[in-house]
This record gives sequence, structure tokens and C-alpha cells, in this order.
Amino acid sequence: MLALTAVAGLALGNHLLISQSTEQQLADTAAIILVGRQRVISQRVVYRALWGDAQGVTESREKWRLAHEHLKNTLFNDPEHLGRGTRLNLIASERERLLMAADTALVANGEPTPQVSAQLRSRGHAFLDLMEDTVHSFEEIAVTRLEGLQRSEVMLLGGTLLLLLIEVLFIFEPATRALRNQWQALARSAERMEFAIRGSRDGLWDWDLAADRVYFSPRWKQLLGLKEQAVGDAPHEWFNRVDTDQVDDLQERLTRLRAGHDPHLSIQLRMLHTDGQWRWMLCRAAVSRDEQGQAMRLSGSLTDISQLKAAQDELIQQAHHDRLTGLPNRERFIKELQGALRRNRDNPDDHFAVLFFDFDRFKTVNDSLGHPVGDALLISIAERFRDELRQHDIAARFGGDEFVILLNDTAGADETRLAADRLLAALALPHSLGKHTVVSTASIGVVTDGLGHTQAADVLRDADAAMYKAKAAGKNNHRFFDRQMHDAAVDRLRTENDLRTGLDTQLEVHYQPIVTLSDGRPVGFEALVRWNHPTRGLIAPDHFIPMAEETGLIVPLGARVLREACRQLAQWDRGPSLGRQPGISVNCSKRQLLDPGFTGLVRDVLDRTGLAPGRLTLEITETAVMENSEDIAEVMAQVRAMGVRLAMDDFGTGYSSLSCLHRFPINSVKMDRSFVRRMNRDASFAAVAQTIADLGLNLKLDIVAEGIEEPLQQERLRTMGCLYGQGYLFARPLSSEAATLYLQDGNHSARRAA
Ligand code: C2E
Ligand code: MG
Ligand code: MG
Repeated sequence: MLALTAVAGLALGNHLLISQSTEQQLADTAAIILVGRQRVISQRVVYRALWGDAQGVTESREKWRLAHEHLKNTLFNDPEHLGRGTRLNLIASERERLLMAADTALVANGEPTPQVSAQLRSRGHAFLDLMEDTVHSFEEIAVTRLEGLQRSEVMLLGGTLLLLLIEVLFIFEPATRALRNQWQALARSAERMEFAIRGSRDGLWDWDLAADRVYFSPRWKQLLGLKEQAVGDAPHEWFNRVDTDQVDDLQERLTRLRAGHDPHLSIQLRMLHTDGQWRWMLCRAAVSRDEQGQAMRLSGSLTDISQLKAAQDELIQQAHHDRLTGLPNRERFIKELQGALRRNRDNPDDHFAVLFFDFDRFKTVNDSLGHPVGDALLISIAERFRDELRQHDIAARFGGDEFVILLNDTAGADETRLAADRLLAALALPHSLGKHTVVSTASIGVVTDGLGHTQAADVLRDADAAMYKAKAAGKNNHRFFDRQMHDAAVDRLRTENDLRTGLDTQLEVHYQPIVTLSDGRPVGFEALVRWNHPTRGLIAPDHFIPMAEETGLIVPLGARVLREACRQLAQWDRGPSLGRQPGISVNCSKRQLLDPGFTGLVRDVLDRTGLAPGRLTLEITETAVMENSEDIAEVMAQVRAMGVRLAMDDFGTGYSSLSCLHRFPINSVKMDRSFVRRMNRDASFAAVAQTIADLGLNLKLDIVAEGIEEPLQQERLRTMGCLYGQGYLFARPLSSEAATLYLQDGNHSARRAA
């Protein structure tokens, strides 16, 4: 019972609220529209009077009277008055003055004198100002009420929800439905009202089709920066200000509207402002018809949407362009390339080519001269592209110094070759960047059509691969992607997939002894990975390590080798005692060292195996440490701090062998096989080998000579003062079983004789 009373009370209260609010909002909307309408009519009175059209003035007068009656009734119902009555009186007296002025103009048979015309116009303006002002004041009241309406809406929604809850509990459907309907009606009212208020801020126009005259509201003119008198009432006043490209479309759409083919019109127009700039305007229109259905007038509004358009354009530009150079970005380029692929598929004579660029020295410029200079270089490169390319070619920046060009509509490979040569020449010229002059030549990978590509991503992948070939062949060069490269790429892809799947089960670690040159006894092993491929057999590391490095697979791969090698060493420790405990050397690539988990991995492996850190040596190549030297030096220092030893692998093959000796905390140097091999035939190689051995002595580094195959090499190195060696002369890399036997054998006398 209690619930029933509550529901009934709520429903009644809300019903009153709704009817009151709906009445108010209807009155407000009507008031705004009626005042706006009177604005239009009074404007017409002025023009009709000036043309001497007494009939037109009388008609307008009648319309004005009716509209005013209506307005009075509307305002009479205004429960709070809110000063509207005062305004109404003002309007009435001002209107009388306007009509008197119109009458005076009409009395002057024929053309009214300039003074009379001027007086009439000024009356017209005074009246229009008053109306404009009135619209605004009514709007303010309406906005306040709208807020009230919206609040009531929320309250009513709350009430409805509450009732719904009660309904669920007590099943009281009809009252809930009534309340729900009322809430919906109120929501609709609020929406209508908001629309009316918003609409009144737009510029209005009203086209009398019979007279072919258009009334443009003061706000309409204001939107285009026009003074009141600057605009007549001929339709061309409008059309002349619309972008010529759009006029036909606009007129056609207006014709369709008049003919009833379209119920209303909504079109975005570029219109000329008096400041010489274009403004985007949203133009909406509707048609009014007489009883016979004949179109009498077209009326509508004009809204300035320039800011909205500018924001939209900006977003579109940002989404498709690189901020720094203004060139299209990767997404946009891929769309264009996909289009070129489609055209070529439909018409094989429609050729295209993609050029993938890499710039040498960009990184150096960025690192040494700073990012602003690096940015300036990129902008300068983009400008050269703009200068060199034809209009239908597209240059894009993918990020960093990665630029790509799409040559559309080429005559075939020869023309593409010429274009690539021309681009190389243009790019090889020095860039002058503020006070710096920089030369940064390019390497270009080219893919043409006719290679069976269907996807943009595949074209780009192959252009990238060809670019690497060009780079490897020497800079300032281009390479075309061909069948061979394609097959190699397919093969690489297959190998990569195979390695990914075989990573956990198909890798084997082999162990090559490292011995003392004086007696050939092992002091340790180098762990060397092999891939036991199910169909291709045992694969040497040179065939998969570079690919693993590029794809990042080297990180899990290297971790496996490290764990396995240390596990094996710990297992040997648990076997029969061998006297001296051997060490283990594990190769590490740059990518592994830069992996954030690397030092953690090393620590974990040592903890798990219980090995003394000094028994583990990490071999790092000189070329790896020279790139990213700062970051790598830090990792090396951390590893050294754990007590792990470091060796510089393939020493003597890089550019900066000597400088890396003092920059990095290393314990040993592995003299590259190339010196050992040629040492006995070429005096200069022997001299280098001697220098490396001397460095070891002077800097207190262990020197390990790699690739010793002949006793003479062993002897020569020993006399040079080199203590350790590794090579087929002592043992090849051995499987773990063979290495176990080798260790247990203890008889390494064959080599001891040397
Ligand atoms: P490296 O570290 O310089 O290893 C020495 C290479 O020389 C090994 O080749 C070894 O088998 C070979 N070698 C040893 N003695 C002789 C000899 O007397 N004559 C000749 N001709 N060659 C000899 P392998 O095993 O093919 O390894 C090649 C390279 O692959 C290694 O060069 C190393 O850079 C890399 N590598 C091997 N295993 C791994 C690994 O687990 N991780 C990483 N990152 N790289 C590895
Ligand atoms: Mg090595
Ligand atoms: Mg080596």
C-alpha cells in the first residue's frame, strides 16, 4: 500500500512537472522562432517599399501582424514574464516607426528620394538590431530554462528507475510505463529546444522564389565579414561567394530540393570571407510549398564550420604524414603501393617500382652533431626527393632515416635504373645544414613489378633486402631485387621458421679444446653450437647465427648454449678427477649482451651450476663491442664484477683492435685464424701475430691463437710467446660424449712433442 501511494505521488508530481516544462519550452521555442520570423518580414517590408511594391508591403504587414499576435499570446502565457512584456512594447513602437517610413517611401510615386530611402533603411536597421537583441535575450532565458529542463530530465529518469525497481518488486506496470513515456517526452523536448537555440546563432536566409529575391540575415553577412549594406538580395550575392568548383553542385542540389526529389539539403561550401580567406560553411535548407504543392520559398541557415574542418584536416594530415618532413608516412605509402599493385594486376603495362633507401652516416650525424642537425639532414633529403620526383611519384618516410619511393607509371626497368642513378647523384651532393656541411650517400634497394608480388608488405620486405645487398656492395649504390634474391629470401624465411621450432630440441653444443701450446694439454673448451636439422643434418653456426642475430632468436639460442655448456662443465666436475679444472668459453653476440636480462641470466646459470665465475669466459667479437660501445662496456663491466672472464674474439679483424684493448675490461685475446694460417708464408702476417703476442705480454692478457692446423704454426706461436692455442691440430670441435672421452683420455702426447 505504501509503495502504491509512493508511486501515485511520484507519477502525479512528475506529470505536473512535465506538462509545465513542456509548455514552457514550447513557448520559449515559439518566441525565439517568432522574433526571428519578424526579423525576416521587416527586412522584406523595407525592400518592398524601396521597390515601390505596395502590394508586397501590405502582405508583409499582414504576416507581421499575425506573427506579432502569435508572439503576444505566447508571451502572455509566460508565467514569469521575465521582462518580455517590456520588450514586446519596444518592438511594437519601433515597428510603427518602420511602417511609417515604409509608407512615406511608397507615397513617393516612382523612385523614392535618396533621403527617404536612407531613412527607411536606417529604420529597418534599427528594427533589425532590436530584433537581434531580442533574440539573444530570449535565448538567454531559454538556456536557463533548458538547464532546468535537463535537471528535471535527470530527476525524472531517477524516478522512472525507482519505479522500475518497485515494479520488479510489486509488479506495477501502468504507472511505470506512464512515467517512462513522460521522461522520454521531456528528453525529446530538451533536445528540440537545444536545437532551436543553436540554430538561432546561424546565419539565416530566405529565398522568395516568385520574386527571386533572397533575404540574408545580418548574422549571415557577419559570418562572411560583410557589412549590412554590402549585400543586396539577389541570389548571385550568395553564389558569387561560393567556390566556383562547387557552384554547379549547389545549384543542382537546390533544384532537386525545389523539385521535391530531396526532402532537405545539407551541403558543405567553401565561401569567400571579406578577409580574402575561404571559410567552410555548412548550408542547410528546406522548402515551403503552397496548397498546390508549388515551391514558394527556400529557407535555411549557414553555419561556420571552418574550425571543425581545420581540426579534421589536421587530424587527417597527421594520420597520413610524417611530422618532420611532411612526406607521407608508412600507412599512406602502403595504401598507394597497394593501389599500384592493383593497377598493375589489371593492366600489366602499368609498371611501377619501389625504391628503398638507407643513408650512411645518418646515425653518426645524429650522434656527433646532435638531433637538430640530424633532423635538418632528414628535411634536406626530403626536399631533394621533392625536387627530383615527378608529380605522380610518391616519396615517404617510414621513420629514422628510412625513406621509400614509389615510382608510378614507369616505362620499365631501364627507366627505373636511370631514376635510381639520378637520385643517387642528387643525394650524394653535400647538404648544408646551418654551420655544418654533411655528405650522406644512399644505398637503394629496388623492386619492380613483374615479380609476382601481390602484397605491399612483401614488396617492401624485398626492397629492404635488396637495399642491404646494395649497402654490402659498397655505398652510393643500387641493387634490383631479382629471382636469386627471392629464392634466398624464401630459403631464409624457411630456415628462420625451422630454427624457431627446433630451438628447444635440435641444438647441440660441441666443445673444442683450448690447450697450452707448450704441452698440448687442455685448459678449457670453447662451446660451439650446431643445429641438428631433421632433414638437412648438422648445420654449422655460420649458416644460422647471422640470421638468429637479425631476428633476435639469438637471445634464447645463446641462453640455451650458455646453460648447456655450464651444465656440461659442472657434470665433468662431478666425474673422475682430472687434476686441473678446465674452463669453458661461450660465444656471445651483441644482441645478447644488449638484452636487458643478460646479466641476470649469467648470474642464474652460475648459481644453478655452482661453478666458480672465473671458470666461465664470454667471447665477444671486436666488431660487436665497437658498435654501441657505451652500452656494451657497461654490461661487460657488470659481468666482470661478477668474476666472469672476458675474451676478445677474432682479434685483428676489426677496425679498432688496439683501441678496444684499453676501453674494455678483457682478460684474453683470441688471435684470429687468418693470421695463424698465413703466418708462415707471409712475413707481414707473422709480424702482426708477433705484435699481438707482445701486446699480451705487455698488457698481461692471455693470448689464444685460433685455427692451428700444423705443428709448425704451434711452434712458431710458442716461440713468439703466445701461451694458448686452439685448432684441428689438437682437436676438432667434439660432441659432449667425445669431449668427455677426450678429457678422460689424458693422453695428449701426440701434440706435446711440438
Ligand atoms: P669462433 O668463435 O671464432 O669459433 C672458432 C671457429 O673456428 C669455429 O667454427 C671452429 O670450428 C673453427 N675452428 C677451430 N679450429 C679450426 C682450425 O684449425 N681450422 C679451421 N679452419 N677452423 C677452425 P664454427 O664452430 O663453425 O663457428 C663459427 C663461428 O660461429 C664462431 O667463430 C662463433 O663466432 C660463432 N658461434 C659458434 N657458436 C656460437 C654460439 O653459441 N653463440 C654465438 N653467438 N656464436 C657462435
Ligand atoms: Mg669464439
Ligand atoms: Mg674466433
